[in-house]
Amino acid sequence: MSGVIDLSALELRDAITAGEVSATDATRAYLDAIETMDKKLCAYNETFAERAMRQAEMIDKARSVGQPMKPLAGVPVALKDNICTSFGLTSCSSKMLENFHAPYDATVAGKLASAGAIVLGKTNMDEFAMGSSTENSARQTTRNPWDTSRVPGGSSGGSAAAVAGRMCAMAIGSDTGGSIRQPAAFCGCVGLKPTYGRVSRYGLVAFGSSLDQIGPLTRDVADAAMMLGVLAGHDGHDSTSVDKPVPDYLASLDKPIENLRVGLIKEFHSESLDAEIRGAVDKAAEIYRDAGAEIIEVSLPHSRVDIDEAGQLSSYAVACYYLVATAEASSNLARYDGVHYGHRTAEKVGGIVELYSRSRAEGFGDEVKRRIMLGTYALSSGYYDAYYLKALKVRRLIKNDFDAAFEKCDVLLAPTAPETAFKIGDKTADPLTMYMSDIYTISANLAGIPGISIPAGLSKSGLPLAVQLLGNVFSEETLLRAAKMYEKASGNSRLTPEMMK
Ligand code: GLN
Repeated sequence: MSGVIDLSALELRDAITAGEVSATDATRAYLDAIETMDKKLCAYNETFAERAMRQAEMIDKARSVGQPMKPLAGVPVALKDNICTSFGLTSCSSKMLENFHAPYDATVAGKLASAGAIVLGKTNMDEFAMGSSTENSARQTTRNPWDTSRVPGGSSGGSAAAVAGRMCAMAIGSDTGGSIRQPAAFCGCVGLKPTYGRVSRYGLVAFGSSLDQIGPLTRDVADAAMMLGVLAGHDGHDSTSVDKPVPDYLASLDKPIENLRVGLIKEFHSESLDAEIRGAVDKAAEIYRDAGAEIIEVSLPHSRVDIDEAGQLSSYAVACYYLVATAEASSNLARYDGVHYGHRTAEKVGGIVELYSRSRAEGFGDEVKRRIMLGTYALSSGYYDAYYLKALKVRRLIKNDFDAAFEKCDVLLAPTAPETAFKIGDKTADPLTMYMSDIYTISANLAGIPGISIPAGLSKSGLPLAVQLLGNVFSEETLLRAAKMYEKASGNSRLTPEMMK
């Protein structure tokens, strides 16, 4: 059965602009879909049905009196629950912020609103974006629309499940170590992490401030290009957002790239890689070769993935990330103490120190506590040089490897995740195994470069496969065009889970 909710965001925008579909009908269709599907998928922490309908009516009215339609007019979207909105809650799926009303809109939320998008709700995530399966949520367990016994990935798992489950036309996620791209891969969507500095982080609840970026989760590459065009740009509220012109990503998308040079990352393409995922990467390389691109083997020695005799994966990049990200998190999360921000214990306490410590003990989940402790340790005197400073040096080496690779190539081709969506509960007992989910994504965050995950068909067991493309800083235009080339030639876009058919 196909209907309004099966259109891509771009198609829907065009249909609304042309008057073929009303924004009210589209919003109603999505709210109905949420009503029926979200009981099974548990992607939304909160929805804004009335507000959304009111906005849709305003758009229809504007159109009826001949006002020009905006670039996302009437497109229903979902926001990850770490994007501040002046309406509803911004909980970060944490008990710590379960009643937090942000006093302002994140820049991206404001930009979406100015572009005419309609916010349907806030989506579930790993608490404070720490995790790879959305199981670290204090709210609920989100399920993968392709197999509800499996995780949607994380930490933007709610956003990915909402896109794949046809419960929004597109969604916003945040990516500190892979949290847009890995859930996109698990759910069969497109997920784009922009260059660090391309999109304002103002109003994104901070996790690892030197790594965090906001980006789109969409049905296809064109929608990602359209959404990035709306989100990108300098913002005086975020000094790390870069003042560079924003290209019209959508307008250039279909232009073929002459003499494209695609790098195949030697260290990621090893025997240890899952055979089906390796097959998907090989197939993608073949598609590029057939399209006239040159395939060049490149080496990223400091991002290499090692495997020991017991089959345990390890990587410098993962080790480096879990020092940098936890160090930054321990500092960012210091503000949640029950006084400045967040949950305050109801217990009678003896003084301020006990108030802080009880509030924090009650408000944070296990994984968040683990990160705060790790980060605090890495930053403490005596360990700072041995851990944090060392990690910063490794980070530089990782970045140098990318710089060298981009001398030879325009984009790099890689897997997104080492496996397809795993079962709920499979990795919760062992944090290290969970951390390895990001083995192919986190180097991009450490280097600040953009990356996109694109669907690559289905595995034998019917789960989404994906490939990842990485680009040089601020090369999103090329990255999206290269992604579109693959999407078009592979015919893999817009996969529909069985339960949605
Ligand atoms: N899975 C990684 C972590 O737990 C990445 C999370 C993210 O990108 N927000 O830190």
